[in-house]
Amino acid sequence: AAKQRTEGPVVYDPAMDKSSAKSLSLLTELRNAAEGNQFRLHVQPKISLASGQVVGMEALVRWVHPERGNVFPDEFIPFAEQTGFIRILTRWVMERSAELCRELAGRGHHLKVSVNLSTRDLLDQDLPAKFADLLSRHKLGPGSFCLEITESAIMDDPVRAQQTLERLSAMGLDLSIDDFGTGYSSLAYLKRLPVNELKIDKSFVLNMEHDEGDTKIVRSTIDLGHNMGLRVVAEGIESEAVWRLLADLGCDQGQGYFMSRPIPADQLVPWLEKWQA
Ligand code: C2E
Ligand code: CA
Ligand code: CA
Ligand code: CA
Repeated sequence: AAKQRTEGPVVYDPAMDKSSAKSLSLLTELRNAAEGNQFRLHVQPKISLASGQVVGMEALVRWVHPERGNVFPDEFIPFAEQTGFIRILTRWVMERSAELCRELAGRGHHLKVSVNLSTRDLLDQDLPAKFADLLSRHKLGPGSFCLEITESAIMDDPVRAQQTLERLSAMGLDLSIDDFGTGYSSLAYLKRLPVNELKIDKSFVLNMEHDEGDTKIVRSTIDLGHNMGLRVVAEGIESEAVWRLLADLGCDQGQGYFMSRPIPADQLVPWLEKWQA
């Protein structure tokens, strides 16, 4: 029987079988969502912890379902990955992110946009060509994009994933290891892949001012990243105390509810103006 959660609508259930009627209808719904403009781009600002300056933003997708309302990514991304629909979604996020970057640049805001990639994206041999086409159509430099990759995305087919990542890196796009510290062999990937950034998972950051163990892990991760010449970013900063602690530890950048929740892309310019004031 399907597992029921107590809060909110259950769209994706890991127990769902690929061939079940329920998952077929979800796939249909995702396709309709793409055609019916039900996806929205949200962005969360990325901030330099030393200066408070906004340096970038992470693109996070939202699905506004006509009946169910807001469906969060954790409820449909795993399913989208399983079915391959993720490639359509990633292309949509890439396109919207490029448009936003261009628009912001026109207003004098030069922000790097971070896009999340999944396993299926990394197995797509055409991904580097898709990025090249995107950059040229929107007249953007490769430095406009950072690609966030999780260890699980690399693990499926490490050889092919590495080839794709090397090609993207050679084009000048930044690569980031997302959710760092939550996998089993993050260190091996750090050694092998051409990464520029390491992103400390929010599970270590959320309560770090009250948890000595978390602080030690975060401190060591920052040192590790810096020793390897990488930029270190912390996600899940929910208080000023945590910001201060991270800044003292030398963490380069941060994201979190303390600065801003993810906001609709069209609200970014007003947010930036308020932040800078
Ligand atoms: P992620 O890439 O690790 O994204 C960070 C998540 O942490 C986001 O959740 C963000 O809203 C949340 N977050 C940010 N600051 C804070 C904070 O201070 N406190 C707390 N408690 N949470 C914070 P979101 O937007 O629900 O996304 C969840 C996951 O879904 C993402 O995790 C990512 O893995 C996936 N996802 C979202 N958008 C996309 C997308 O366009 N493509 C792909 N492939 N995956 C996506
Ligand atoms: Ca991410
Ligand atoms: Ca993350
Ligand atoms: Ca995550």
